[in-house]
Amino acid sequence: GFIDSDDPEEAKKPRPPVVTVMGHVDHGKTSLLDALRETDVAAGEAGGITQHIGAYQVKLKSGDRITFLDTPGHAAFSAMRSRGAQATDIVILVVAADDGVMPQTIEAIKHAQAANAPIIVAVNKMDREGANPQKVLTDLLQHEVIVESMGGEVQAIEVSALKKTGLNDLTDAITMQAELLELTANPDRPADGVVVESQVEQGRGSVATVLVKRGTLKRGDIVVAGSQWGRVRALIDERNQQLKSIGPSQPAEILGLDGAPEPGELFAVVDSEARAREIVDYRQRQKRQSASAAGTG
Ligand code: GDP
Repeated sequence: GFIDSDDPEEAKKPRPPVVTVMGHVDHGKTSLLDALRETDVAAGEAGGITQHIGAYQVKLKSGDRITFLDTPGHAAFSAMRSRGAQATDIVILVVAADDGVMPQTIEAIKHAQAANAPIIVAVNKMDREGANPQKVLTDLLQHEVIVESMGGEVQAIEVSALKKTGLNDLTDAITMQAELLELTANPDRPADGVVVESQVEQGRGSVATVLVKRGTLKRGDIVVAGSQWGRVRALIDERNQQLKSIGPSQPAEILGLDGAPEPGELFAVVDSEARAREIVDYRQRQKRQSASAAGTG
């Protein structure tokens, strides 16, 4: 749901889907994200994913790519949405086959529906003796998640994050859903996108994981992110490789901002340091004003 009305249709090129995994606590979100990471065929070439950053991209055998936002828990998703950052194209709803639909399953469905993001159901823990996938699918009907086997349009895939079964079916389902969405962005423009997470690290300074929505972000670009700015000193991926640039749907850590922007804040490349200062000064003034208004109100 990203509005890019100022890019002409013919400038837009296909981009990978951005996927968030949601579901009830202990149903296997973290385990599934870890297992999906291992489906990456680029791992052999480039040494695999060596550091944890808030988003990573896998390359499938087909050559297609999928970007996963590695922020399990619904708080990060809400934070991004409340700041207007519709970063997610597709929600993977993880439901443990032995436990079934639980309160946070329902909450996740509501988040996905509010964000207008299509759901793919991953019925996890199929290796468990008490697995009852049919009950999961029937219970989901009450929450307007109608899977294909029940006459609806939602794909449901049986997986085990532990035994690593069904993962290719799941990535196939994501690719199929992404094709339906016809996801595109213009790579040939200054970048903008969203901050996934950030912190200030000893010796490295501000480290912000960003996801590009459109355009190409290059080393040396001047970036404004929330009320921080800086020149991109380094772009580093989850394999700890230095990159020269990243394009639409691609995540990376950026070094060089003067502070740590909040998750969900938007970033954009600007054409001069003077412009960056001007925007940041304005935003900081606004912050102070709304803070003092709240104080007197
Ligand atoms: P999260 O809270 O949703 O992130 O869930 P976790 O990924 O932390 O998993 C919770 C527990 O379920 C852990 O003990 C996992 O080892 C276990 N688990 C996750 N996936 C599977 C699975 O497919 N089969 C089985 N048997 N256990 C699983």
